[in-house]
Amino acid sequence: MTAITHDLVRELAQFDTGGDPVLTCYLNVDGRARVRPVDYAHDLDRLIRRSSDATSRAADADVEAVRSHVLNGLDRSRVRGLAIFSCESAGLFRVVDLPVPVHNRLVVASGPALDQLESVAEQLVPIGILLVDRQRIRVLVFAGGELAEHTESVGELPRDYDERGHAARGDVSSHVDELAHQHLRLAAKIAFDAFQAHGVSRVTIGGANESVAEVEQHLHPYLRERLVDRLGVAVGASLDEIRNAMLDLEARSERATEAAAVARLREVVGAGKAVAGLPDTLAALGERRVDQLLVSEGFEETGWRCENCTLLAAVGPTCDACGATMTHLDDVVAEAVQVALGQSCDVEVCVENADLDVVGRVGALLRY
Ligand SMILES: [Zn+2]
Repeated sequence: MTAITHDLVRELAQFDTGGDPVLTCYLNVDGRARVRPVDYAHDLDRLIRRSSDATSRAADADVEAVRSHVLNGLDRSRVRGLAIFSCESAGLFRVVDLPVPVHNRLVVASGPALDQLESVAEQLVPIGILLVDRQRIRVLVFAGGELAEHTESVGELPRDYDERGHAARGDVSSHVDELAHQHLRLAAKIAFDAFQAHGVSRVTIGGANESVAEVEQHLHPYLRERLVDRLGVAVGASLDEIRNAMLDLEARSERATEAAAVARLREVVGAGKAVAGLPDTLAALGERRVDQLLVSEGFEETGWRCENCTLLAAVGPTCDACGATMTHLDDVVAEAVQVALGQSCDVEVCVENADLDVVGRVGALLRY
């Protein structure tokens, strides 16, 4: 599986087709919802029919290439989504297998439509998982939608230690406590070594509540500042249970990041440090003032591109910057995302964020 990183997104954003249109297809092939291959084959046919406007501008060879890749059998054991980029005339045909589902979408634009791929790349930065109780330590790393078990260690503390009838009861319980503290300090140390080696961006802890609360106190500051919500699973949870809990946690944490960015935008838009709505956002992109682009997932709008000076605009056909006559676009939003990525802006695709929707479904925090 190709590593889905921000570098891959940038590499695709910079692919030069010499002006030929690129067909981008995102297809959900998640086996949990689409049991038989014929299910996603029908989805693709529907998508192609529904997007006849777009496909009429695509080369037949590109539509055919996408169709034949999808219909010729997919190994879906680890694949839940596909991102396919095709521009045969420029020698581009790239399939990126995704470990997470995507929304079906077909776009024809002057470059690859990268919004969903960028959003997947964000989801896939490694997260460290530490599971502890009084007996056990498990350390795992979650990346690319997959779990890798790192360490499983059983502490020295026997489950029935305090039931063995030692004479001096007080001594036994303080000894048990000391072993328990040692065990949790060890857990913090094992986690630090493993997570630092993996360069994890975030850390989550799960297991028995008491142990979790204590191990948090022992965490190295490097890990403590990367802590996100606790993971609601037991130490003995199966890999499937942990994986599903992580997918939920990821989605929640991604929504929280988006909400924070949108809140920031709304806070500073009055002071001129952000813009909201399509016309102003496109203008800011044209002036290369965008630091972070925020866009509602699924937002599509017709618009214009100036072939003379590359400006994007919501209203045409005359270019505000150079006066040339612009080209009509089916989806200027997809173009804007591509331009932003090309300018090395951060792009945040926001899912079901009503606060962004009410200010026009797109906006940007500005560099100056
Ligand atoms: Zn122009």
